[in-house]
Amino acid sequence: MSPNKKFNPVTAKILTTGLFILIGCLLACAIHMVSLGKIYEQKAEDELLGHMQVAVEVINHDVDAQMVATQACADAIFFHEDDTKLSTILKEYTDEYDEYEFYYAAPDGMTYYANGTAVEDGAFEQLSEIHGYEFQNDFICITQEGNNVKGEKESYWIGICRLQLKEYDEPGFLMSRRDNNDLFKDECFDYLCELGICSLVDKKGTVITTDSNYVKELGLGDNFYEALKEYSNGSNHSESQINQMRSEIPSQQEGNMEFVSSAGRNVFVAYEEINGTRDRYLMVVFHEDAVYEMVQPVLFRSFLLWTIILIIMLVTIGFVWNSGRVARRTVERLAFEDSVTGGKNLNFFRKKAAEIINQNRETPFLIYRFDILNFRYINEAYGHDKADLILKACVQEFMRIYSKNELCVRINSDHFLALIINNTDTKQNYQSYMKAIGEAARTNGVRYPIRLRTGVYQVRKDDYNIDIMIDHANAARKSLSGTEKVQEAMYSEKIVSNMKKVDAIESQMQPAIVNDEFKIFLQPKWDIVNDRLVGAEALVRWIKDDGSMIYPSDFIPLFETNGFIEKLDFHMLEKLCKRIREIELEDKYVLVPISVNQSRILINNPDYVKNVEKVISRFNIDVEHLQIEITETVFFDEKNKMIEVVNQLKKLGLSLAMDDFGSGYSSLNILRDIPFDVLKIDREFVSESVASKSSIVIMQKIIEMAKGLNIKVICEGVETKEQIITLRELGCTMVQGYYYDKPIPMDEFLDKYCRPKTNISKR
Ligand code: C2E
Ligand code: CA
Ligand code: CA
Repeated sequence: MSPNKKFNPVTAKILTTGLFILIGCLLACAIHMVSLGKIYEQKAEDELLGHMQVAVEVINHDVDAQMVATQACADAIFFHEDDTKLSTILKEYTDEYDEYEFYYAAPDGMTYYANGTAVEDGAFEQLSEIHGYEFQNDFICITQEGNNVKGEKESYWIGICRLQLKEYDEPGFLMSRRDNNDLFKDECFDYLCELGICSLVDKKGTVITTDSNYVKELGLGDNFYEALKEYSNGSNHSESQINQMRSEIPSQQEGNMEFVSSAGRNVFVAYEEINGTRDRYLMVVFHEDAVYEMVQPVLFRSFLLWTIILIIMLVTIGFVWNSGRVARRTVERLAFEDSVTGGKNLNFFRKKAAEIINQNRETPFLIYRFDILNFRYINEAYGHDKADLILKACVQEFMRIYSKNELCVRINSDHFLALIINNTDTKQNYQSYMKAIGEAARTNGVRYPIRLRTGVYQVRKDDYNIDIMIDHANAARKSLSGTEKVQEAMYSEKIVSNMKKVDAIESQMQPAIVNDEFKIFLQPKWDIVNDRLVGAEALVRWIKDDGSMIYPSDFIPLFETNGFIEKLDFHMLEKLCKRIREIELEDKYVLVPISVNQSRILINNPDYVKNVEKVISRFNIDVEHLQIEITETVFFDEKNKMIEVVNQLKKLGLSLAMDDFGSGYSSLNILRDIPFDVLKIDREFVSESVASKSSIVIMQKIIEMAKGLNIKVICEGVETKEQIITLRELGCTMVQGYYYDKPIPMDEFLDKYCRPKTNISKR
């Protein structure tokens, strides 16, 4: 039975949006990670080059310092040109600069040391040969491998100053030596060594000194370029990159290149020349994928964040979906259930009945649209709780009596809809159903007879629109006024034409007031004791342009439901007052009190009495000439209002009549509660009373009681002489009815009954 089990459109929209956001996040995260990797790679390269710059600066600074110290030593030797002094000065400076060792290679082939020894070691020839072609300046710094005093192989920085001593005809070389074994241990190399391999290489690619990673990664080869080639994957690209670097280096101070290793890793090589050496280069080799290792924690954190977002989103989506499900169930419950009866409601009926009819096209169905007559009275007299039990019984008893394919729901207040299969049991079932509701009411202490007013529509094979079917059944129900003996009507052409009539009346009522189509007809009220006219009742007649007449029964009930009655009654009151005033001024007729009918609905208007007062004072009529007739009410809240209104109208000097007594659920108590001056006994009640002996007693009691309360009685609808005789015997003094006259146009009435000295007798 439950309608749509899938997602409703709102939840589906939320879920798809959520999914799109999720995919979006996924993509953004992937793109973010890739670009993050790229950024870090670039950043690492930049940082590497930056660190390299710093390292070169530091080395350059050391070279400069070495140059200053070497030059200072050279100056000292130059100004003390004495052999003995040479070794002393060398010692002096070696002591002063404890990281340098000074010695002098003279052109005679001897090398003089700080400890006073002089050795013929060919250093002068070597230096002249190696550096002659480029040793233009006074100082050059070279790196060289050699043995220390302990005979260990070491790598050195050697600062060389050309120094011409007097005793030689060509310059020798003053040298300062400092070891550079721990070069890469300096903190400025920390980053570089951590990330890659550092080495000092000369122009030809000879490796002068390296960090500890070099051998591990690039092997034992003496030549840097050969080692790189060995390490590369041997591709043309890698080879040409290495060759290009090799050819560029003699003319470039710095640069970098990339190639691929035999293990398929991207290798980045950067170089920079060390000042003051002109043939020594700092080389740094690093693997680009090493960057990823650095970036990994960042990427991991990104991934973690993304996962958390994902989980939050999934939880949110789950929550929304679940809330949607709960909300959908609640909406379904609210949309399809009726809280008063515990059954289903109109929405459900529209859906389900349409389904049943469509799936069973061969089955003849009826739609019942019914309400409970005078349910409002039951509500007020027995209370809402008991009234609700009757409503519940309407649904429960239906389910007990009818089959599964038949439905009954409450629409609102006491209005119901049912889908019934039309077969031989239909009549019987309906009787049992009404009986069952009546019994349920009695069981719950409601003695008031339960009567259903039912409109029936027979579903045709080509009917598809359930709303139209319901409307037809409702039109049939509305065609019943509530006073008929059988409260059941089948939808028919007649009902349609009545509806059209109603539409026509509704479209014409407003212009009818403007065109003065509502006319006053008067019917005499007769004193049957003295046989004379005692008053008249104003009754409305709608006379159209073409002269056709519409009787109140054709439009008053409609005006009471559409609210137009308020306008009409006020219009009639004004018209009557205007005419009364004219007659009063003319002095042509002898006036009797004329009563005007005012609908019960008018008393709900809080300004009603004020409006009546205004009309009376506007036309300045004698209030003795005007009476007001209102139908009694059985409803409690209206009764209180009625008492108030009647009292206020009486204060204006008006006489008040209670109309149609005995037509509905009249109670004698009402005469005591509401201070009416006149009691008009309904036509039906009069004709019944004079016909049956037992009713005569009731009528007599009513008349007696009214007299006791000082209320005048008028019996309506008197048509025969016999009725008058009986009523006179019962103590009734005034009557109104066709026996004396029908309602006739006001002017005709005045001419007939109100001319001075007119004496019409029926006796
Ligand atoms: P009502 O107020 O009970 O008026 C008396 C009705 O009984 C009138 O019907 C009258 O023509 C009819 N009648 C009088 N004597 C006899 C008789 O001997 N035999 C029969 N069979 N009928 C008799 P009418 O004029 O058709 O009015 C019907 C109802 O319409 C009135 O009943 C009243 O309730 C309502 N009505 C008429 N004019 C107005 C009006 O201006 N305003 C309001 N609110 N209701 C009006
Ligand atoms: Ca009346
Ligand atoms: Ca009446």
